[in-house]
Amino acid sequence: MEPVRVNLGPRSYDIRFAGDLGSFADFVRLSVPRAKLALVVADTHTERHATTVRDALESVGLRTGMAVVPSGESSKSLAEFGKLLDALADLPADRQTAVVAVGGGVVGDLAGFAAAAYNRGLPLVMVPTTLLSMVDSSVGGKTGINHAKGKNLIGAFHQPAGVWIDPAFLGTLPDREFRSGLAEVVKYGVIQDAEFFAWQEANAAAILARDLEAVRYLVAKSCRLKADVVEQDEREETGLRAILNYGHTFAHAFETVGGYGAWLHGEAVAAGMVCASRLAEKLGRIPADVTERQVKLLTAFGLPLHPKAEWPIEPMIDVMRRDKKAAAGRLRFVLPTRMGHVELVDGVPEDLVREVLC
Ligand code: NAD
Ligand code: MG
Repeated sequence: MEPVRVNLGPRSYDIRFAGDLGSFADFVRLSVPRAKLALVVADTHTERHATTVRDALESVGLRTGMAVVPSGESSKSLAEFGKLLDALADLPADRQTAVVAVGGGVVGDLAGFAAAAYNRGLPLVMVPTTLLSMVDSSVGGKTGINHAKGKNLIGAFHQPAGVWIDPAFLGTLPDREFRSGLAEVVKYGVIQDAEFFAWQEANAAAILARDLEAVRYLVAKSCRLKADVVEQDEREETGLRAILNYGHTFAHAFETVGGYGAWLHGEAVAAGMVCASRLAEKLGRIPADVTERQVKLLTAFGLPLHPKAEWPIEPMIDVMRRDKKAAAGRLRFVLPTRMGHVELVDGVPEDLVREVLC
């Protein structure tokens, strides 16, 4: 499999896959040629993979330190961020020191932000270990932590120097986490690539069985599709990057009203995409079969299709009104126009939104 090149001028980088020509050692030499030191960051569930990565770094002559944070969203905190800065100062890190994030989106966002901040920016290497982080969070350069007033409220754009994807690391990932990551993969098909969607329909069984070739193709394709968007709107300025939020306005409402923890992010996105697609139907933008294909694929992937019946509707609408995509309280959604294409639609009547939530 060819590396996926993310073209961002001087901030361009490659996403490379284990098992292709070139070892991890070659990848490190290529992406952080001047690094003599590295801080490897992991969480308590990815520590063993981080040890493998650290051994490989040392085998090419880098001196390493290791920082392990508790697993879970609560590690995206100022406290854990501060500890990483302390670890970098203790090394002591210099301008060339690489930060190597081995974990899911939590480790990537947290370690990425430490890399962005320390010494005004250290080279960052991403080694994603969840499906979500392989197909989504390690591409695009968003890093950050949470604040009591909001998720990802404190952060920076900091593009990695390289991303190394070893699908074998998924071997220890719980099934629910794997399925949750698939929601974002389905999303790429709906918003950008009808052929990729059809490929997923035809290969659902191999994907769920985590067939290595199927997973490699799925991850590479997803990275390419996200990179295509990021290349055109690196810092979320032109509005194009908004298409990546398909299903997410609803998902955010489910996560807020249902409480973070009721559902994994991908589960909320799955139900959110079905609601958004039904909304597009009600607006006469798509025929019913576009929704039905998503329902069938998401069902095969064991993902939810509808918010839980006990979640009250009005608070969900309130969250959507406050959504950063809502313009002056008018509801705004990313909606399909056909399989493989979406548009931003303004001023959607609230009654129709209520209908798809019922
Ligand atoms: P996560 O990092 O919390 O990982 C999920 C769980 O799996 C954790 O318990 C983790 O310890 C465990 N885990 C990770 N890899 C494992 C492995 N190989 N084997 C066994 N267990 C493993 O969650 P996630 O879903 O990867 O990422 C979610 C985070 O990503 C959120 O904080 C979200 O805000 C962020 N995110 C960021 C971006 C971005 O562009 N930066 C995009 C999407 C999501
Ligand atoms: Mg998402």
